[in-house]
Amino acid sequence: MRDFNASKLIPYIPREDYDKIATEFLREFYPEALQKPMRVPIEDIAQNGLGLDVQYVGISEELEIYGMTIFTDGFLEIYDPEEMLYETKSFKAKTVLIDPEAVKKTNIGCRNNTLAHECVHWYKHRYYYKMQNFTLPRYAKYCKCKVNDLPYASDDENIMECQAIGIAPRILMPREPFIEAAEYLGISYGRNNNESIWTLADFFDVSKQSVAIRLKECKLL
Ligand SMILES: [Zn+2]
Repeated sequence: MRDFNASKLIPYIPREDYDKIATEFLREFYPEALQKPMRVPIEDIAQNGLGLDVQYVGISEELEIYGMTIFTDGFLEIYDPEEMLYETKSFKAKTVLIDPEAVKKTNIGCRNNTLAHECVHWYKHRYYYKMQNFTLPRYAKYCKCKVNDLPYASDDENIMECQAIGIAPRILMPREPFIEAAEYLGISYGRNNNESIWTLADFFDVSKQSVAIRLKECKLL
């Protein structure tokens, strides 16, 4: 297997296709969200659509990792905040770990965005990680999503992380219904849009920062 080039299993997704991937995802798992503005029940989609086992646990002592998707069965070291030590535990493939304390430190800190992010990893990146199982099969293959940049990540991991970061908010705020909702609220340049941004954040159940970024992407701000 040494000649096998795992990077070939990384989907090539140019930035301008992120909306397309989010639409494909929703068409498969929650097509209603493409019809009119609504809150996307991402936890339900993660569990019942993708079949992921979502667990809210401590992951690291420094709270620098907010989420993990586990792609193969095996062992993994995570931090137990009660015992205050790292422990090696056995996990099953299709497990997602979310560290609620670390999520608060991310700049678009909300749980739904984190869940959507991990869904993208499973949806688009599982073949890459499953193929890695030919090396060290005792250990679980996983991706770690970090609060800040990824200084130790490989190029492959950086590419996949950028894809998950870019696509997750597009799943929670799909383009057409999001624009419809923003226009309904009269969001436009040169206005004080604070209250409307708050309303959208509450409606789509995401953070205000995430809404503000999405408005710019959709050229509404
Ligand atoms: Zn990630």
